[in-house]
Amino acid sequence: MSGFDRIAVGTGSPEGVNSVYVLADRGVVIDPGPPTAWTALRSGLERSGLHINEIEHVIVTHWHADHAGLACRLASAADATLHMHEADAPLVGTYAESRVERIERDRSTLERWGVPTAVRDAVINGDTPSPLPDTYPIDGHHDGDTVAGLELIHTPGHTAGHTSIVAAEAVFLGDLLLPTYTPNVGGSDTRLDDPLGVYLQSLDRLSDRAAGRSGEPGHGTTLPINEAVETVRAHHRERAKRAYKIVAERSNATPWTVATELFGHMAGVHAKFGPGEAAAHLDRLAEIGVVDRIETAGEPVRYAISSPFPSGTNLTP
Ligand SMILES: [Zn+2]
Ligand SMILES: [Zn+2]
Repeated sequence: MSGFDRIAVGTGSPEGVNSVYVLADRGVVIDPGPPTAWTALRSGLERSGLHINEIEHVIVTHWHADHAGLACRLASAADATLHMHEADAPLVGTYAESRVERIERDRSTLERWGVPTAVRDAVINGDTPSPLPDTYPIDGHHDGDTVAGLELIHTPGHTAGHTSIVAAEAVFLGDLLLPTYTPNVGGSDTRLDDPLGVYLQSLDRLSDRAAGRSGEPGHGTTLPINEAVETVRAHHRERAKRAYKIVAERSNATPWTVATELFGHMAGVHAKFGPGEAAAHLDRLAEIGVVDRIETAGEPVRYAISSPFPSGTNLTP
């Protein structure tokens, strides 16, 4: 039992075209794609030779709509079981209720990051509902669980419940690593404390499984895991250094002011991803003790330099 097919579906995600994976021998579909991609998904499944009635398991790497958008629809049409990590399962399984909570949490987080009111309102108003059922039954999993002989490993950071799926020949990565884009950490799930630290630890966990396996990302095509891990680590070291420099150059730095220097003008979802990314780096720098995080009730969080940037730091907890 081995082998898989990739179906490219959807456009419009900042991360690029989505990759759905079909493991026909196991009756498994991974990340069925965005809600708009039903026709493309169905014709891709036909090409891969997996009849919809033969699908037994739909596994979703994380709650984002470009991965989970068709999960309930496909599982329901196939009478298959839907699987997710238990930390992300509620955002799909109790979609309506969880969405209200998420929007409220995002709004107060953006406020805490110092995002100006008008920008904040535009982000929240642009966060339109996906056509998902209000509730849907999901099998919630822990790290190390198996589904159809595939191991689920918990790789949080991009989201709190992000899961990678380990087969004999490949690891299905979701948005843990991407071929042409650095996965957002910080803005893509506002539930995590120290999301960059959590993410870097997930890369360590992935590296342990890399030997002899290809990396199959949730957008785009096969990547070499170890090289991609090194590239993204170097990227975060560099970005942390830049964030540190910005804090050193201005007083009262907030995630928003640091993000505007890092990324320039930010609109749409980037006005959440940008300051989230900045906050993730600033919080990691606070955890390693080189910046102070200054919290004042009712005001944005601020950061100030407390120690020199350590040479050779890999930022990992
Ligand atoms: Zn994602
Ligand atoms: Zn994605």
